[in-house]
Amino acid sequence: MKVNPTYNTKEALLKLYNKPLLELVFEAATIHRQYHNSREVQMSSLLSIKTGGCPEDCGYCPQAARYHTDVEAHKLLTVESVVEQAKNAKANGSSRLCMGAAWREVRDNRDFDSVVEMVQAVNDLDMEVCCTLGMLNEEQAKRLKNAGLFAYNHNLDSSREFYKDIISTREYDNRLETIENARKAGITVCSGGIIGMGEAVEDRVGMLLSYMEMETPPDSIPINALVAVEGTPLQDQKPIEQWEMIRMVATTRIAFPQSVVRLSAGRTKMSMEAQALCFMAGAGSIFAGDKLLTTPNPEFNEDKEMFNILGLIPKEPFQDGEKPVSQPDVIIEEKKKKAAERQLALEKARQEGFSPRKVVSVEK
Ligand code: SF4
Repeated sequence: MKVNPTYNTKEALLKLYNKPLLELVFEAATIHRQYHNSREVQMSSLLSIKTGGCPEDCGYCPQAARYHTDVEAHKLLTVESVVEQAKNAKANGSSRLCMGAAWREVRDNRDFDSVVEMVQAVNDLDMEVCCTLGMLNEEQAKRLKNAGLFAYNHNLDSSREFYKDIISTREYDNRLETIENARKAGITVCSGGIIGMGEAVEDRVGMLLSYMEMETPPDSIPINALVAVEGTPLQDQKPIEQWEMIRMVATTRIAFPQSVVRLSAGRTKMSMEAQALCFMAGAGSIFAGDKLLTTPNPEFNEDKEMFNILGLIPKEPFQDGEKPVSQPDVIIEEKKKKAAERQLALEKARQEGFSPRKVVSVEK
């Protein structure tokens, strides 16, 4: 059951969200145990492959160029450095690597070619590869799928109504289109939202309703608590209560029994007990590692200790779908062919006595 028909209206979802907390957790835990192994929690790592300088105006995001935050912009990482960090994440128990680039949209340029190579290389490490690169067209989605991409993340963030208060540089429908493009290419969809941005409870369940209205709901739904960063328009937003996170996780679990609910940003503000209730209520994944793109996150060791105490087991990769097979990329192969031809022509010219002209600089 991908979508729970009992809760497919806003009223029903609202009623569910507002149920007495322990009743809600119990219902969520019961559903979770029907569809998932309740001891397994996936550890995922989120790596910022291109940081800052984004032209968008998402009100919560320290990477938007227009806000004055402490985030230091850096250009795209090299494929080698991504592979090294992926190996490190894998050695620490992560079975999924999510690569994030602060772009408005994917452009068909050299940087995208590098991302395609990163996807191939990380897939070769037997990790699930997820990307979050902004808006994406169908062709680009196909290229990523062909490279071995397992999941594409693109969040709706909140309800259609509240979205406008947070972002003005792109529409809700643009987001739905990107999700659809990833879906059409056969990539699994990871899409969720953020709570604590000043939205009403109606907006939280409104976002869930948007997912319910999709032909196929997201395979995974990350639930984030806002990390209010100085310099962003949401810097003064008060942190949410831990109960709100538990309610949101439980409501999402019940509404989408098969999806993986991901307990994402905001864990540093949660006690282990509150996180335990989230796992009880159906959270099946956390982000591991001390950074979530640019905001703080618990250290690997703290999470290992929490797993030991709670009796949780890191989930192996590809439990929810087959490992994609990385195919050669036409554009990259063509580039390699041209480079080899140029090298050959140069060697031939050398053998025939050609030597490149020396440029002599004349001192004045
Ligand atoms: S959330 Fe993404 S699209 Fe929005 S400003 Fe940040 S990096 Fe840009």
